[in-house]
Amino acid sequence: MHKERIIDMHVHSDNSPDGIHSPMFICEQAVDKGLRAIAFTDHCEIDTYHSQKYDCMAFHSYFECSKARVAFEGQLLVLIGLEIGQPNSDYELTKKIVNSRPYDVILGSIHTPKGFNCDIKEIEYDKIDVYDFMKNYFAELTEMAYCPEIDILAHITCPMRRIQGKYGIAFDYEKIQKETDELLKAIIKNDKVLEINTSGLRQPIGKTMPDENIIRRYKELGGKHISIGSDSHSAYDTGAGIREGMLLAKRCGFDRLTFLVDREIMEIENNI
Ligand SMILES: [Zn+2]
Ligand SMILES: [Zn+2]
Repeated sequence: MHKERIIDMHVHSDNSPDGIHSPMFICEQAVDKGLRAIAFTDHCEIDTYHSQKYDCMAFHSYFECSKARVAFEGQLLVLIGLEIGQPNSDYELTKKIVNSRPYDVILGSIHTPKGFNCDIKEIEYDKIDVYDFMKNYFAELTEMAYCPEIDILAHITCPMRRIQGKYGIAFDYEKIQKETDELLKAIIKNDKVLEINTSGLRQPIGKTMPDENIIRRYKELGGKHISIGSDSHSAYDTGAGIREGMLLAKRCGFDRLTFLVDREIMEIENNI
């Protein structure tokens, strides 16, 4: 393994409500761990953009991360982006935010699914039909794949952290094969990137999001672009699981990995 090849494309700083460390400290830790590049992708929830002060946080994130980029030049490639939550709640606002700064990369996520007034973490999955829920969740993500402002579809099976991880519900992916294929085909057709999110490896579910079956299916259908992100909210987790994610990508036939600079897709050899 060449340590300089490790790139973490999903990192939160203290400019996210749930992030705890400053961009400078995260960069210092990333250099110590031998990472080559990180992408800061602080939260920006579109449906609560003003009421929950994401407008201020996104502003601070951009400037604090820019300072870190300059300070660590030559040691660490610092990419600056956002994790846009619920872009489908206001596409015009999404466009305005994404085009307001020269971002490198934009992740798209659904944290608050349509019809729910809470985060996917708070849903009581033992009281709903999880198959209907996931079909609707994938339909929302499929729509997101057509949004020009989104580059990477983040943690597409995120509810599984609770469905399988917390509630211990056995989930048969074959029952949502049609919706899964529609989502993966939309990602491919629109030249978007599928994220392997490694945060599940640090949680009870013990698996990446999505897990291997979906990554293999993406490859079978002709998918080309895979990025890997730790979704760290602490400097100590930055880079966590990236190596495992690279091995998984390799097993599924991805010899190249994707990152973005100036919102342009770049590729690097997956030489794990
Ligand atoms: Zn997220
Ligand atoms: Zn995140």
